[in-house]
Amino acid sequence: MRRMLFGSWILYRPDAVQVWKNQDVIRRLSWYYKVMKDIKPAKFMIAKRIEVHDDPRKLDFEGLWDLHDKAAKDFRRTFSDIKNDNLTLSELEKPKTSFLDVKIELTKRMLKKCIFCERKCMVDRANGHLGLVCKLDYKTYVHSWFHHLGEESPLVPSGTIFYGSCNFRCIYCQNYDISQTEIYSGVEVTAKELAVIQKELRVNGARNINHVGGEPTPNLHTIVESLKYLDINVPQLWNSNMYLTVESMKILVDIIDIWLPDFKYGNNECAMRLSSAPKYFETVTRNLEIAIKHGDMIIRHLVLPNHLECCTKPILRWIAKNLPKDKVLVNIMAQYRPEYLVAKHPSKWSEIARRPTHKEMVEAYSLAKSLGIAFEPVS
Ligand code: SF4
Repeated sequence: MRRMLFGSWILYRPDAVQVWKNQDVIRRLSWYYKVMKDIKPAKFMIAKRIEVHDDPRKLDFEGLWDLHDKAAKDFRRTFSDIKNDNLTLSELEKPKTSFLDVKIELTKRMLKKCIFCERKCMVDRANGHLGLVCKLDYKTYVHSWFHHLGEESPLVPSGTIFYGSCNFRCIYCQNYDISQTEIYSGVEVTAKELAVIQKELRVNGARNINHVGGEPTPNLHTIVESLKYLDINVPQLWNSNMYLTVESMKILVDIIDIWLPDFKYGNNECAMRLSSAPKYFETVTRNLEIAIKHGDMIIRHLVLPNHLECCTKPILRWIAKNLPKDKVLVNIMAQYRPEYLVAKHPSKWSEIARRPTHKEMVEAYSLAKSLGIAFEPVS
């Protein structure tokens, strides 16, 4: 058992121990479980052992993607061998240049015309220009990192890192002080420092590294590079609004062990009005379908008051129809409360200026049940 910074998290979350007696959860989250238990290496550790023979810095953008896609094939063969007990990490040499190095170089290039998220601002963040919505240049700010005891039971204690800024503009954001400000009061971190934070969290008992915010997506370059310096086995968890481009998804699928997507809206009109996020539904559903093919997943859906018909129900129906029911877990969350602009101007946003009712929650749970969606035991 790893040493904990604090003594008795089990007293607060006994369900986080009990959950691993549930064989169905172990089966659904089998890869995450094995990495968490140190039985298998995290994907980023495998990516570091896949050799590439070209120098990524000498290739143009197109050449880099070709190299990436070729190495991705090697990675997936190796990953499958390791997953199926036909190979161990120790049998693989540490190459001079690895698949992860290619990903690092790609994110550096992407930062010059930023296409990390679907807004595709094309801004040169690498040279100090600010993203049009995230308002970040190349720097990454971290507001806090700690062992989070409030996450879903299979994740607790979760080594959570809160990044500053966000690419959404949710009018009800509960973390608006770190996500919606243009003055980032967090600590600026380099990739090496971020690796030290992750190591400290794992050594002291984190079951995973939970990249969240705000939103981790605008910090993709620093997060990917940090894995080069991270020398401890720990599952990587992407806790995100999933508004990434296909390119960013291609970078992440080979290094993320478990996805924690926040599926907010069942249509584009609500996404635009409440989060200023165009093309929301097609972007997020596309990315969920990509992610589930490459990793374990717990989907979060925060039930918004008066949004059962337009959001909750279409979301649950989409999940039931399009994602493998025997794999995905869904957390239907009841904890919405009016915050930020909604709390400030409740009459303007009266539709969501209250908590969801018991009746709304029961209706959401009943629909999930009737659709055969596994929404327990995570909560
Ligand atoms: S992360 Fe998104 S919002 Fe920020 S600059 Fe890049 S494309 Fe724009």
